[in-house]
Amino acid sequence: MARSVAIVGAGVSGLTCGVVFAERGFRTTIFAEQIGTQTTSGAAGALWFPYDAEPADKVIPWALATYKVLVDLTKDPRSGVSMIELRQYCRTGKIQVPDWANQLGARRSGDSSVAVALRATPSRPQVDCYSLNVPLMDTTIYLDYLASRFQKAGGEIEANVRFEKLEEVDPGFDLIVNCAGIGARDLARDADLEPHRGQVAIVPRIDNLKCAIVCDDAPLMYAIPRANDCVFGGTNDVSDNLVPDPKTTSAIVAECSRALEIEKPRVLRERVGLRPFRKSGVRLEREKLRDGRAVIHNYGHGGSGFTLSWGCAENVFEMAN
Ligand SMILES: Cc1cc2nc3c(=O)[nH]c(=O)nc-3n(C[C@H](O)[C@H](O)[C@H](O)COP(=O)(O)OP(=O)(O)OC[C@H]3O[C@@H](n4cnc5c(N)ncnc54)[C@H](O)[C@@H]3O)c2cc1C
Repeated sequence: MARSVAIVGAGVSGLTCGVVFAERGFRTTIFAEQIGTQTTSGAAGALWFPYDAEPADKVIPWALATYKVLVDLTKDPRSGVSMIELRQYCRTGKIQVPDWANQLGARRSGDSSVAVALRATPSRPQVDCYSLNVPLMDTTIYLDYLASRFQKAGGEIEANVRFEKLEEVDPGFDLIVNCAGIGARDLARDADLEPHRGQVAIVPRIDNLKCAIVCDDAPLMYAIPRANDCVFGGTNDVSDNLVPDPKTTSAIVAECSRALEIEKPRVLRERVGLRPFRKSGVRLEREKLRDGRAVIHNYGHGGSGFTLSWGCAENVFEMAN
């Protein structure tokens, strides 16, 4: 059984795996080019919701396992995790409530003002909605919480380290966990990974917005209120471009403001991240490196890295043992 573990990546996947291994007595070090809020994870809206990740038969069990852990974390105010009502809208007809949402108590309802505003697009006469309570991770708090929980359990983080291949990891570690997100395209030479670029605008808190609003038929629109600000989104295009596009920001702010029936707020920050979508599905598997050491790959979570984080980390731990 491996006792010393090197994790590559300090986004939500690497940090969560780090907590799982370090709290169970493994000597664990995370190596990463970028840490926490600088990563793709730092750009996420970070609602619990299975989206843009495959395959469903694995994604849903991982997501439901993660849901339970996150609900427990809401009891710790330092975690940055809270429960929020999510209203999922569809502009183009009747929305199908998925079975897993029914299991979590989904109900058909909706804020009529948002529904009316969304319906105001003449080409889209129908609006349907269901709502359910989900965990929301405030990334400005949660990623630091994970890092400090990892370090309290004895874990170490080495930042500004970039590997060209996994064999470069110090041979003193007998297990490597690859949580490199879209970086696994080069690190694991995985051509199946596709960057699903997402851009968001961070705006000041919106008075009276108490629930998260998501509409994922085009144009993708979401408004997620957090403790100190609000995330307006969003986009999902295949692109590697990490530079925020001002025209896209204006379009996001315009559509969110229209749907919420508010004046356009000022933009505090723009963020872009590359969702690590893998065409053949999340890669969670064990492999041998050329030097004989074991690697467990844990990447390709697409638009669901937060939603799958604890379920996948537990699965990695089982594979390691
Ligand atoms: C706009 C947007 C909104 C989103 N909203 C949600 C949401 O509401 N809910 C949800 O669940 N998910 C959401 N996602 C998806 C989620 O952000 C990702 O699935 C998740 O961040 C992936 O996390 P990760 O830790 O696997 O990868 P990342 O966060 O990308 O971290 C990868 C880590 O690996 C390191 N690394 C990469 N290559 C190397 C290398 N060669 N050497 C050393 N280090 C390396 C990086 O520096 C980094 O530390 C959203 C994404 C975006 C962009």
